[in-house]
Amino acid sequence: MSSIRRKITCLLLVLALDLVFLRGMYYSYVQAKDTLFIPVSGDSEEINDGGRKFSGDKQIALTFDDGPDSVYTPQLLNGLRERGVHATFFLLGENVEGREDIVKQMYHDGHLIGSHGYSHIQMGKETVKTACEQIEENNKKIEAIIGKRPQYLRPPYGSWTEELECTIDMTVVMWDVDPLDWKSQNAKKVVRHIVKNVEPGDIILLHDVFPTSVEAALEAIDALIKQGYTFVTVDELLVD
Ligand SMILES: [Zn+2]
Repeated sequence: MSSIRRKITCLLLVLALDLVFLRGMYYSYVQAKDTLFIPVSGDSEEINDGGRKFSGDKQIALTFDDGPDSVYTPQLLNGLRERGVHATFFLLGENVEGREDIVKQMYHDGHLIGSHGYSHIQMGKETVKTACEQIEENNKKIEAIIGKRPQYLRPPYGSWTEELECTIDMTVVMWDVDPLDWKSQNAKKVVRHIVKNVEPGDIILLHDVFPTSVEAALEAIDALIKQGYTFVTVDELLVD
């Protein structure tokens, strides 16, 4: 009897160890998947997005695409100001139209202003001429407001090619953590994703055109400050 019991105990132990091992494999897969960026076209390794400045600090960068929004961006700016946090905004030319004051406020508050192109097109699928015109149009628009040309570009959908890289003298900025805020529009879910997956040196992708994203950003900031993280703009994180 005792021998059978021993065998059963042994078997259960092996099964338990297997489960722990498989669970570990699953989570490392999920995490790797999260940080893996698959561009619509082009090779992410070739994109000028790899160099990060070494820092012993737990520095991370929040980035916001698609804005400004006339309601949610000012709410976000207020929340960031209250917390003394700087972020990076990749503005869409179409949305800048008529919201110049918000852009001025953003710049005045010390945030970094980057470009997301004029309209939300997949630049990697356009001709070089069209992509360049899109970028140039938005750069001019932003320069007219803040007196400075944007140096950092986030192409919509991360769609980019090496060919464009040679033509455009801007630093292309992708991301490490994508909580898919636009998809779930669920603040709690977005906060959970960010807090669980973020690591020092990471760039987080959000969109300041949804109330849930603004709520999530501010909640995530509060949670991560408690964990010792500090927030910087992408130019402070990237090596040009
Ligand atoms: Zn976008």
